[in-house]
Amino acid sequence: MLGRRRFNAAMNRSLAIAGKKRVGLLKFAALLSCTALMGACAHAPSTHNPMATWVPSPNFDERRPVIIVLHATEQTSVQQSLKTLSTANSGGKVSAHYLVGDDGHIYQLVDDSKRAWQAGGGSWGAITDLNSASIGIEIDNERGEAYTDAQIAAVIRLLGDLCTRLGIPRTQVIGHSDLAPTRKVDPGARFPWKTLADAGFGRWPQGELVDPPAGFDPWLAMAAVGYSLDDRAAAVRAFHRHYRAQDDGNDPQATFDAEDLRILHALNARVVAPAP
Ligand SMILES: [Zn+2]
Repeated sequence: MLGRRRFNAAMNRSLAIAGKKRVGLLKFAALLSCTALMGACAHAPSTHNPMATWVPSPNFDERRPVIIVLHATEQTSVQQSLKTLSTANSGGKVSAHYLVGDDGHIYQLVDDSKRAWQAGGGSWGAITDLNSASIGIEIDNERGEAYTDAQIAAVIRLLGDLCTRLGIPRTQVIGHSDLAPTRKVDPGARFPWKTLADAGFGRWPQGELVDPPAGFDPWLAMAAVGYSLDDRAAAVRAFHRHYRAQDDGNDPQATFDAEDLRILHALNARVVAPAP
């Protein structure tokens, strides 16, 4: 938009010139009015609902994310990922708020208050539009490769900053495959969720694991944690990647074992009765 002050200054200059060159004024004024019109047309369309009377209030701020989604880039270098996350590529436009290199360097690509295109379709608990609700962190990692200590330390520092600054609960840190178990496997079975849990991030079973009581329903426990039950084998595979460091591939028969049930029971206890 052409600023009002600059517009006035330009108009004053044009009037001074016009004293000497009156013929040129008409052309210049016409140009300025066109520019002003173009500026008006370039305004973003109003988001005020025409059904309602607009009575603006100053009492608002930016929407705030409530969950953090961790990804693996599954690419060969941070430079390749920076390009992918800031351009249109063969897979369409994608982005993330942050990218953490394997040397621990943190890049930011999208403002925290904006909606990056990173989570796509899926759900976590009652959240069905994860892009609107989340901060996305990409971690430079080829599939199956170990994460470096430097980048996990950087991720933990970044999580601390985001949770503190944006008021995101520290338990609300999940993997892409947790919210989209039928489509995604990142950040993968080698991601050190336990290290994050030891630093206070994510949901992790606390205390000694014990067998659940009779009548324990692992699917209710899965849903209470946040997993979608639309494809139960896919949900189990995602659970195994997150809590057992186990990659089941595409096993359509993936199911729980006794240790899974103990973990789910402990997680469920945390969900139902979180520690003070
Ligand atoms: Zn991802």
